[in-house]
Amino acid sequence: ALKRERSEQLYKQALDVIVGGVNSPSRSFRAVGGGAPVFMKRAKGAYFWDEDGNRYIDYLGAFGPIILGHAHPAVTEAIVQTAADGTLYGTPTEKEIRFARMLREAIPSCEQIRFVNSGTEAVMTTIRLARAYTGRDKILKFAGCYHGHSDLVLVAAGSGPSTLGIPDSAGIPQSIAQEVITIPFNNLDALREALDRWGDQIAAVLVEPLVGNFGIVPPQPGFLEKVNEWVHQAGGLVIYDEVITAFRFHYGGIQTMYGVEPDLTALGKIIGGGLPIGAYGGRREIMEKVAPMGPMYQAGTMAGNPLSMAAGIACLEVLSRPGVYERLDEMGKRLADGIGELARNYGIPVQINRQGGAFAVYFTEEPVIDYEGAQRADSEMFARFFRLMLDEGIYLAPSKYEAWFLTLAHSDEDISDTLQAVDHAFKQMKKS
Ligand code: PMP
Repeated sequence: ALKRERSEQLYKQALDVIVGGVNSPSRSFRAVGGGAPVFMKRAKGAYFWDEDGNRYIDYLGAFGPIILGHAHPAVTEAIVQTAADGTLYGTPTEKEIRFARMLREAIPSCEQIRFVNSGTEAVMTTIRLARAYTGRDKILKFAGCYHGHSDLVLVAAGSGPSTLGIPDSAGIPQSIAQEVITIPFNNLDALREALDRWGDQIAAVLVEPLVGNFGIVPPQPGFLEKVNEWVHQAGGLVIYDEVITAFRFHYGGIQTMYGVEPDLTALGKIIGGGLPIGAYGGRREIMEKVAPMGPMYQAGTMAGNPLSMAAGIACLEVLSRPGVYERLDEMGKRLADGIGELARNYGIPVQINRQGGAFAVYFTEEPVIDYEGAQRADSEMFARFFRLMLDEGIYLAPSKYEAWFLTLAHSDEDISDTLQAVDHAFKQMKKS
């Protein structure tokens, strides 16, 4: 086993001064048996080095944003050059226009855009905007989908909260919770029922058009089209949360990949090139309700800051090059297929859901098309697998249904090394 003494010491220090020792609960190792998380010191390309000097191949991708690999020279250079000219002005800058244009070219439904600082803020604001535009209060969302930590979307949320086994958060007023309707993903009957009952009160349906927060769960054929059709018939808006999906599988969003357009879109993660960012956009007529044009207020001291703009522009420029998504898909296929084959050889039950360079490995025999399916994945088996992989120098998200994310920095050799590590891990799992 790798020695991680320094991580253990640092964890003790962190516990004293930082709540839970981590600045986001998804970083803790609670869902994989507890103990000290690994404290990383440096990252470059596809690799992490921890405080004890161990090297890991990284499949966490910082929970999504890192798609070029760590410290990509184009992004680093953009950040360094921009920083030299000042990091924050509190005035508009030309970079904001350039970047907004790049985003609109890739995702045309975002006719107008506003930059914010996180995915949480982006989603939170699209909800307020949908309410302002429709004059209605209720929100419909899908079980297990994580949309950040604003009050409304922590009602029966998944991802972070659910990996800790907390279906809900404390501190959410009942008056807010009652404005949120939650139904299973990929379930049109449930959608029909909810709309029949509350359709005239629903401001918006909030959709992750391809779920990236309880693994990878694509919409079933026709699902997104029906959501659009029925919600619009009921007079509500459709919001796509593409915080995790935009620019992950394709230069654009799931909406441009499948050709189904929402009214509003929330963005984040990859578009910041590894710096804090969020953005929301949509039809001009709706966006014009936002201050200073309209009556819906939203603001931000750090919003559209030069560093995030520069890093985002640099990242998208690299992603727009030919062959990028083909390469991610090729690696994703090789790794996911390889893991599937090893699992079959060892008689270990897994379901693998893959889209391009991202996939989820669920330890279950049943296909996963919704949150209930993802929850069926065996937690203990995953925890064991996670620990064994960590000792092989492979860093996965510490959650039984978080996706593995490939980056452009991963090499064919990294994939081979990872498959060998999986082979060792499965062998151990069969022994005990
Ligand atoms: N929406 C989705 C789909 C996400 O995956 C996340 C982050 N996991 C968020 C919103 C929240 O983004 P942030 O963490 O930047 O606030």
